[in-house]
Amino acid sequence: MGFDQSLIVGHVDEELLCPICADVLEEPLQSSGCEHAFCRFCIETWMNEKHICPVDRSDLLPVHLVTVPRFMRNMLGRLKIKCCFSENGCSALMPLEQYRRHVENCQSNPKVEVLCTKGCGMKVPKDEMFRHNCVLELRLQLQHQLSALSQLQQMQSRQEQRLVQQRRELEMLQHYIATLRATNPVIRTVGDQLDRYWLMRWGRSLPLASVRTWGSLISTPDSTMVQTVREGLRASGCPMRLMGMLLDCSYEESWPDGLSTLEMRRMNQHRLAQFVTRLLPIGITGRPCVILLGGDNAHMPDNLRPALGIVIIFINGVDETHAELSPAPLSEADYP
Ligand SMILES: [Zn+2]
Ligand SMILES: [Zn+2]
Ligand SMILES: [Zn+2]
Ligand SMILES: [Zn+2]
Repeated sequence: MGFDQSLIVGHVDEELLCPICADVLEEPLQSSGCEHAFCRFCIETWMNEKHICPVDRSDLLPVHLVTVPRFMRNMLGRLKIKCCFSENGCSALMPLEQYRRHVENCQSNPKVEVLCTKGCGMKVPKDEMFRHNCVLELRLQLQHQLSALSQLQQMQSRQEQRLVQQRRELEMLQHYIATLRATNPVIRTVGDQLDRYWLMRWGRSLPLASVRTWGSLISTPDSTMVQTVREGLRASGCPMRLMGMLLDCSYEESWPDGLSTLEMRRMNQHRLAQFVTRLLPIGITGRPCVILLGGDNAHMPDNLRPALGIVIIFINGVDETHAELSPAPLSEADYP
């Protein structure tokens, strides 16, 4: 590279010229053998092809390149250089080390980028500003964005198609598993264990609830209520396949014996407070709706303990409990 000799103010010692570019040394390096000095860029480019000194053809390997002595660096440091855009009006005079950065940002540099004053927000090289057309540039930008958008839309539609296909495959697989479970007792046992596991995994993500008045439960919810509970289950990430099972268990006739009639509930009233219950998001269900999971209630007697889980909707009287009663980690029995 080198600094243009004609821009240097005053005399330049011949020692300070690069034998390759014939300009003033820039980031000089010298051969430790013959002591010839070159610009870093010039000698590195040269050594991509040859491993001899370009002046005297002595051996020159990358390890032979060292910094030039201090007196040479001092001599270079004392030189002053003019800006190459002095004809465009720049009068700056500076040490060599400031030259490159100055030229890049010099306001007389026709290639320096300036902000368009007509408000399009683009930066344009100064010498191209006269033919810069905001509308044209913005239209080009818009075209780029539209084509990017259309690519994204195509990608999205492909992914949606794939999703539909995968959902179809999943349904077939679930159907297949259901058939297997119905016919094979071993698979049925494994399937039941899996259900229990997935149900508890989801259940533990729900906040605990405390029921103040068990008397306010709705024993036979209407279909609208069941529909909003379905939304609540979906919103809280309930495994899809277990949702139907939980919804079927939102009527008293599907509850464990000890809960299935008003009389039984009255008889077991003293035990009801021992249930571990979890709350579905009230914002979605509109009224308090708790989930009673078998895995949470292993401590309850058989006639009160649900096999997998049941849903109970209340008129009121349910609070979210913030004190997590540190549920036992998913036990062996929860795993398939
Ligand atoms: Zn050079
Ligand atoms: Zn040499
Ligand atoms: Zn300048
Ligand atoms: Zn513009």
